[in-house]
Amino acid sequence: MAAAETDSEVPCARCSDFLHFSAKDTAAKWLEVDNLLKEVYQHLACFVPKIYCLGPNLNPQNEDLLAQLLLQGPLEWYLCGEEPTVGLAKLEQSNQPSQLCGHVFKVGEPTYSCRDCAADPTCVLCMQCFLGSVHKEHRYRMTTSGGGGFCDCGDTEAWKKGPYCQKHEPNISDSSQKDPLANLSEQMITRTRNVFSIILKYAVHMLTWEKEDELPEGLEPPARGDTYYCMLFNDEVHTYEQVIYTLQKAVNCTQKEAVSFATTVDRDGRKSVRFGDFQFCEQAKSVIVRNTSRQTKPLRVQVMHSSVVAHQCFALKALNWLGQIIKSSDALRRILCLVGLQQGPNGENSLVDTLMLCDSKMWKGARNVYHQLFMSSLLMDPKYKKLFAIQFAKNYRRLQTDFMEDDHERVVSVTSLSVQLFTAPTVARMLITEENLMTTIIQTFVDHLRHRDIQGRFQFERYTAQQAFKFRRVQSLIGDLKYVLISRPTEWSDQLREKFLEGFEAFLELLKCMQGMDPVVRQVGQHIEMEPEWEAAFTLQMKLTHIISMMQEWCANDEKVLIEAYKKCLSALTHCHSGFTDGEQPITLSMCGHSVDTIRYCVSQEKVSIHLPVSRLLAGLHALLSKTEVAYRFPELLPLSELSPPMLIEHPLRCLVLCAQVHAGMWRRNGFSLVNQIYYYHNVKCRVEMFDKDLVMLQAGASMMDPNHFLMIVLSRFELYHIFSSADCRKRYGRENINKDVVQQNNTLIEEMLHLVIMVVGERYIAGVGQVESYDEIKREIIHQLCIRPMAHSELVKALPENENKETGMERVIDHVALFKKPGVTGRGLYKLRPECAKMFNLYFNHYSRADQSKAEEAQRKIKRQNGEDSVLPPPVPPHFCPLFGSLVNILQCDVLLGILGAVLQWAMEPSGGHWSESMLQRVLHLLGMGLVEEQQHLTGSTEDGISFNFTLKISRPGEAPGNTPSILALLETLQNAPHLEVHKDMIRWILKTVANIKTTRECTASASPADSSGHSQEETVRDKDKAERKRKAEMARLRREKIMAQMSEMQRHFINENKDLFQQSLEELDATTSTSLEHSPSTCDSTLVCVGPRRWRASASDRRQVVTCILCQEEQEIRVDGKAMVLAAFVQRSTVMSKNRKRPTYNPDKYDPLFMHPDLSFGTHTGSCGHIMHSHCWQRYFEAVQAKEQRRQQRLRVHTSYDVENGEFLCPLCECLSNTVIPLLPLTKTTCSTEQPDQRQWVNITSQQIKALHAARKKTNAEGVDDADSAEDCHPPDGFRLDHTPKNPYSGTIKEMLTTFGTATYKVGLKVHPNEQDARVPIMCWGSCAYTIQSIERLLVDEEKPLFGSLPCRQNDCLSSLTRFGSACWTASSQAVVHGHFIRLLAALVPDSQVENTPCILDIDMFHMLVSLVLSYPALHCLDSSGMSEDAAQLHLLHLVTIAHIVQILLTSIPEEVRMEQESGGAEREEEESVCLLYNTLRRHLSSGLHEVTSGWHLWHCVKTGILPYLRAAALFFHYLNGAPAPPELHAVGVGEWEALCGYLCLPSNPLQLYYNNLELLEPLLQGWCSHPGVLQALQSSTALIRFPRESNHLIELPEDYSALINQASSFTCPKSGGDKSRAPTLCLVCGAMLCSQSYCCQTELEGDDVGACTAHTFTCGAGVGIFLRVRESQVLFLAGKTKGCFYAPPYLDDYGETDQGLRRGNPLHLCQERYRKIQKLWRQHSITEEIGHAQEANQTLVGIDWQHL
Ligand SMILES: [Zn+2]
Ligand SMILES: [Zn+2]
Ligand SMILES: [Zn+2]
Ligand SMILES: [Zn+2]
Ligand SMILES: [Zn+2]
Ligand SMILES: [Zn+2]
Ligand SMILES: [Zn+2]
Repeated sequence: MAAAETDSEVPCARCSDFLHFSAKDTAAKWLEVDNLLKEVYQHLACFVPKIYCLGPNLNPQNEDLLAQLLLQGPLEWYLCGEEPTVGLAKLEQSNQPSQLCGHVFKVGEPTYSCRDCAADPTCVLCMQCFLGSVHKEHRYRMTTSGGGGFCDCGDTEAWKKGPYCQKHEPNISDSSQKDPLANLSEQMITRTRNVFSIILKYAVHMLTWEKEDELPEGLEPPARGDTYYCMLFNDEVHTYEQVIYTLQKAVNCTQKEAVSFATTVDRDGRKSVRFGDFQFCEQAKSVIVRNTSRQTKPLRVQVMHSSVVAHQCFALKALNWLGQIIKSSDALRRILCLVGLQQGPNGENSLVDTLMLCDSKMWKGARNVYHQLFMSSLLMDPKYKKLFAIQFAKNYRRLQTDFMEDDHERVVSVTSLSVQLFTAPTVARMLITEENLMTTIIQTFVDHLRHRDIQGRFQFERYTAQQAFKFRRVQSLIGDLKYVLISRPTEWSDQLREKFLEGFEAFLELLKCMQGMDPVVRQVGQHIEMEPEWEAAFTLQMKLTHIISMMQEWCANDEKVLIEAYKKCLSALTHCHSGFTDGEQPITLSMCGHSVDTIRYCVSQEKVSIHLPVSRLLAGLHALLSKTEVAYRFPELLPLSELSPPMLIEHPLRCLVLCAQVHAGMWRRNGFSLVNQIYYYHNVKCRVEMFDKDLVMLQAGASMMDPNHFLMIVLSRFELYHIFSSADCRKRYGRENINKDVVQQNNTLIEEMLHLVIMVVGERYIAGVGQVESYDEIKREIIHQLCIRPMAHSELVKALPENENKETGMERVIDHVALFKKPGVTGRGLYKLRPECAKMFNLYFNHYSRADQSKAEEAQRKIKRQNGEDSVLPPPVPPHFCPLFGSLVNILQCDVLLGILGAVLQWAMEPSGGHWSESMLQRVLHLLGMGLVEEQQHLTGSTEDGISFNFTLKISRPGEAPGNTPSILALLETLQNAPHLEVHKDMIRWILKTVANIKTTRECTASASPADSSGHSQEETVRDKDKAERKRKAEMARLRREKIMAQMSEMQRHFINENKDLFQQSLEELDATTSTSLEHSPSTCDSTLVCVGPRRWRASASDRRQVVTCILCQEEQEIRVDGKAMVLAAFVQRSTVMSKNRKRPTYNPDKYDPLFMHPDLSFGTHTGSCGHIMHSHCWQRYFEAVQAKEQRRQQRLRVHTSYDVENGEFLCPLCECLSNTVIPLLPLTKTTCSTEQPDQRQWVNITSQQIKALHAARKKTNAEGVDDADSAEDCHPPDGFRLDHTPKNPYSGTIKEMLTTFGTATYKVGLKVHPNEQDARVPIMCWGSCAYTIQSIERLLVDEEKPLFGSLPCRQNDCLSSLTRFGSACWTASSQAVVHGHFIRLLAALVPDSQVENTPCILDIDMFHMLVSLVLSYPALHCLDSSGMSEDAAQLHLLHLVTIAHIVQILLTSIPEEVRMEQESGGAEREEEESVCLLYNTLRRHLSSGLHEVTSGWHLWHCVKTGILPYLRAAALFFHYLNGAPAPPELHAVGVGEWEALCGYLCLPSNPLQLYYNNLELLEPLLQGWCSHPGVLQALQSSTALIRFPRESNHLIELPEDYSALINQASSFTCPKSGGDKSRAPTLCLVCGAMLCSQSYCCQTELEGDDVGACTAHTFTCGAGVGIFLRVRESQVLFLAGKTKGCFYAPPYLDDYGETDQGLRRGNPLHLCQERYRKIQKLWRQHSITEEIGHAQEANQTLVGIDWQHL
């Protein structure tokens, strides 16, 4: 039995049943009783089950009404002591509204944060407050809310500036400290307390009630029924599909009901799925449990007594009521807080505590309600917010533990309130000092990470989905810690110091568990079997990165704290490495006369870990000692003597060596997990607290050591000591020829080691290490990024580390170092490095990857070369070290380093052998350069340093051992001329030059005689020589280039000649030229430029001859009627682009009669083409191959393609443009014209007679056998009209075939029917497509402000021409009788024909379609005529006739003129005005009442002229393509003379009304006939809007300038199908402005047998299958076509940096870019959406796999 069936059995409570009840009396009674609680409970026990939960389908309105009357009524009466409306109004008067806005955010609502003023990024404003605040002028960030959380407007702690918006600006006279209860009477307070405590208690009791079949004491109902609910609860384990499937089985409901149940369960957390007796419900429960328990734990289901559910429902209601009532009064709010936080008499938990502690047991709906109440009460009252925060902190550990087990998302957990409490700095600080919150959080966190190895370090299991889930939960604790730390104290109390340090110590405990975790051992021999787990550890590190940084900042804030923290950290590190020499042999290293004791340790053989957070924290603190100068001011307080530099550097050094060895390929067998770790170690997300700090630690250690000792230890850890320590190390090539791999490996290691030395000495951009500020740090980062290439804002942001406020600090710097280049219609804005900043470029910048480095090097050299400079890239001048690190410079001039440098230079003497590498040499030269730069800096500084740091002296000295090795300088001088070192010459020359300079300076200072030395001028000449040489080379290069260019262009010319057509097409596509019209450029004079009628321009034989090349076989082919068919790839699609009525109901495709197009153009068939020409047989072969390939592919793997072969789709073989048919190319028909032609009246008569004859003939055939002499008799076919004539079909077989192919395709696509080439509607659809396509192109040209002729791209030109000529030939592929029938019916709409019924009225006909159909169907009639009447004459007569009809149509629908002054036309068009008035009045006469009176001829003439223009333009295009007449030059330009030129070209009088007056005799009766059609009067009087002329072009909807307006609009949009729910993916149709609920179950509908999402469904009604949408949450444009095609497109919204924000991740304010929006609109107007999708899908195969139909 389905749930719904029990409906009728249940009595429904009605208001009338309780008419005798009086709320006032009940309240009065309550005032007297002693035990109010008992009394109220009794009342509730009696009434609640009578109102709530009486059946399966609840009736909320009815329930609400009754609850208001019976339950809330008495409560409010009691509370106020009078009529509640009066009492509450009084309260509201004395209310002091909270200064806090407190607006609770809906899902998807926009929120704003000010990047300048917000205390932290969690401080946000609602849109209303934001718009009224000062921050809208600041740098702000916009995001969409995930739901929950509230507006911080008015919270003075949240904002550094401008905490109030205009609305929440406090009244200065009000003191906020006033007690809100002061205004309330004592009795009132008591009563309120009574009510609040009873109701809150009741609600808490019921919501936390766990028994299914019983009620709390005092609430048992007087009469207990036997009705139960089967209640299904939400969890995060089961998917929607699983729940839906199970429900269908368990309660036997439809899919739709199941979806609705599942949706409610997901939203509210529970939903009853069955109502009835216990057994009935129990049965459903067991099915559900059984069905869902297989893989996972089962869905939670309870069978609950209806009265329990009823009370729970009312409990929620009661909480809502409390929330409502306190809104009107701060006093009531205060009382509620008081009641809520009051502990029981024996210290029992307060009600608020009870709720919090039961949070994880409640269902989602209940939680949401009470969280909301907390937010509107406790959090809005400043006093109670603190008290609540304390309770929250006290319960913190328990709440978090519950949350770990809770299977709900965090947003519905009470723990998520932490953000509201902890981010308020005063509250946070109070909680730290009073509740020791920091320690609590950290310890809770550590408690939840239980996996440890024997040393107590974290050890994570395989990172499964479940692990990840749990781990994510634990991370929310880190989030809380971040909130607590985010605002640093400005003043420290001793208590705060104590508690912070306690927290710091707890934190160190945490870090100790991480120090050395996930150690790795190098795998030798075979590859590791299983990739070890590494992600968890890195996730932890990443999450803690900001916390670690913040800890350091807190420490830096107070000297005492810093000193203590340093001590604690040092002792933690010592503790970690207490046995760091354990088991490792002590050894002694000696080199260049120095020796040091260390241990034997090989990274490549022993365990090594990348996780060293304790060392790194110490490194950070060490730098802070220097930065804050604590190290110099209080050295006695610091444990500096306890520091053991070798111990400090040991582990960071191992880690860096590990990286080097990985680079050298020594760890290949350890798999990808290690590669990933190394990657993250350097990655911007981690490096600040990993790589960077290791470097600092090395610097700190080295600064305290003898540089020679330091370097020897480094060499030893790099396992390079043996190479450099041997006495004959300079003869490496001779000695070490063993293993090429080993040599290679060692080379890389040497490179890495040298790089490390460069960094240790050169990296000074950390405050405390070097004398820099954070500004310099960021500046350098940005410069080095931009040295690689110009970058977009978002790219730069990604490359820079963000701080905890998600700020990179880039804005402060960027304009100083870069120039901004705005984006065009595509692409994005880019920053380009200012040229003067390039001198800061350091090739060995520590944050470059190897790839970055080589890109940057190349880019910088290129720039230098372009500027004609030396391409040398010397080290930049570094900032000075801070004193604590000052001794590091001595590394440069120490003996060991000089020994190393000398050795490498010596090796480099030998050109080959592989014992040294280019990069090695480059690094050595860089180090030498650094030494020289350092020396120069010292020289210009104080003289004392200049003496102590004498690098030039050191490198000039010959090597010491053994004997007479040459000095470094000598080596360089030799190398300068080595031919194999060409690339390094620049640098060597630079070094030698600098040495010379320094020597000069030293001599000068020594002799104190600053004079130009001869060496200087020598240098000058050297430089000049260089210059001349370079110039000569450049000149030679230029000549060579020119020669090549000439060769190439010759080849190009050749190629063009060979592929002339192809080339021309592609050229013209690029730049729409007028070449096609030039081709036809008239040789005769302009007066003959008429495109229609007997006088029309005629093509000469040579003009008609057209030769094209097949793109497939490259053969040339002339187009002839009897030749091989040539075809154009074409795409036919349905279109509503020009629709003036998107509400027209869909028709039945089998019955629809398309003969007459309605002027609303509600849908049409558009044909487009890429313009590529093939033989029909070549195309057929190609298409068959595509088909076969597709079949094979589909069998093999079920991949989709961007085109649907089964539907005849294919990609153009040349340009890959989506196509679904081909248009045959036809030649211009050869015509001659005799002079004698009938005039209009005669022609109409003859044609009428011809038609009559046809009618008669048809009757005769129909009535064959029956003797019907009459009809045969009254018809005399006019002279020369041969009814029995069968015209010869001029076309070749292949052309005929292609005529059918295209006709059938148009028919099939246009009507969405199965192909049927016999169907009578085939030719109509072809004519319709021709007319529609011409009309749409005419509109496009107007919209683009382009001239009618000469501006169309070649492809469109070719398409229109072949489409039109095809149209004139397509009748030959159909039955003649059918075409005759069409022509007869068409003409009958204008010229009455007694035999034709149901002709439409002229207001229901689009006249251009009419014209095209008439002209194109006429040849079928004409071919029977042998009287010599010309087709040209007929075309002209048809044009005139339809034009008059259109004029009448325009006049009938003209808009009454506005009341205004008579326009003076100056007499120029007086004649026209009079004639139009006359005609108008004739029409009025005919219609007697339908038309308004018009006095102004000027106005009418204006209406006619503008109204008819689009029609004339379209007609001109049509006849141009049909007859081939070139257009007059006036039509090749926009603007003046167009009217006259058009009239001339179309052979019309310039006052087209003349057509009427010249032929009154014929036209007057016709006119009368048109007007008397009943449809005309009906249309004029109907309320629906008439289609008026000119029809305006459609455009996409207007979009707001500010994107947040859209977000706001979308956030208030609710799903139309699921009762007021927020839509998850609100999507805006850009065509009609409809907002849709996309990508969601609730709004799926069935379309032609498939389930489709709201967007796809909408495209079929709004866009004939094509749709353009804006996904508002994603800020992304969506193109859809049909059910299977779609792509995303860049939105027309850009931020200030010229970038889109797809996915809305960055949150920069977005503004509409009109140009980009116009581009989308253009794609739409020119019917290119489907094509665009095709191209996107071809370019990106993943798009093909997306389930577009469900969007
Ligand atoms: Zn607000
Ligand atoms: Zn506000
Ligand atoms: Zn601001
Ligand atoms: Zn071919
Ligand atoms: Zn193509
Ligand atoms: Zn729409
Ligand atoms: Zn929906």
